[in-house]
Amino acid sequence: MQLKVADRWFEWERLADDVTRIWEPHVIRVEQCNIWHVRGRERDLLIDTGMGIASLRTAAQEIFDKALTAVATHTHLDHVGSLHEFGDRIVHEAEAEELVRASGNFSMLRQDHPVEFISALERAGYEVGPSFITALPHADFDLRHFERPSAPPTRCVSEGDVIDLGDRVFEVLHLPGHSPGSIGLWEAASGILFSGDAIYDGPLLDEIAGSHIPDYLSTMRRLESLPARIVHAGHDPSFGGARLRQLAREYLERRGG
Ligand SMILES: [Zn+2]
Ligand SMILES: [Zn+2]
Repeated sequence: MQLKVADRWFEWERLADDVTRIWEPHVIRVEQCNIWHVRGRERDLLIDTGMGIASLRTAAQEIFDKALTAVATHTHLDHVGSLHEFGDRIVHEAEAEELVRASGNFSMLRQDHPVEFISALERAGYEVGPSFITALPHADFDLRHFERPSAPPTRCVSEGDVIDLGDRVFEVLHLPGHSPGSIGLWEAASGILFSGDAIYDGPLLDEIAGSHIPDYLSTMRRLESLPARIVHAGHDPSFGGARLRQLAREYLERRGG
């Protein structure tokens, strides 16, 4: 397979509320996670870290200009690939073990993955082409051999724990269903929710390894009643409170909750 080398691996845009979205344009949609950077007075917050195909820390160093706490909303590869590049790493206790281990080999080529994995993604509504990436980070990148290094958490969190940036406080919401240790970060003062893959405005995955529909139904009931003003999700564009309630309701109706 012939892929060109990308000029740059990451793009970013500054949004309101001192929030910056960083993403990997050459990763296909299903694996293209939103990486969120939030400015605080004492320290900044980084929510998820992308695939790890190129160095996030180096590429976005102009954004990372002070103490930084990196949080994994869950441990799927597209969210924790660059986590090892950051010294302060937070994850829910239910997925801590995943980060202690390296990821094992991940091929970027569709043909190297089990048919069931690809068909679960396609059934959910994603298009999967011959490769998970559409450009190379550098000329000698090996499409078939990629591994995330070990990135043991420095702090494990659970429901109700608080991450304090000095002037901004985020509460951990345990939102299992997509994965056992999926979390959201809720800033009650602003009504901002960082939701990870618990909810986003695209095809949700609840039939992959580690997902659990009964837990997902409980999570959706909870999200439906959250007084959110804006949701910055693990994939796809951000949305408001009305859309949050609509997406949660649609899931509950579809899965019989
Ligand atoms: Zn995920
Ligand atoms: Zn994801």
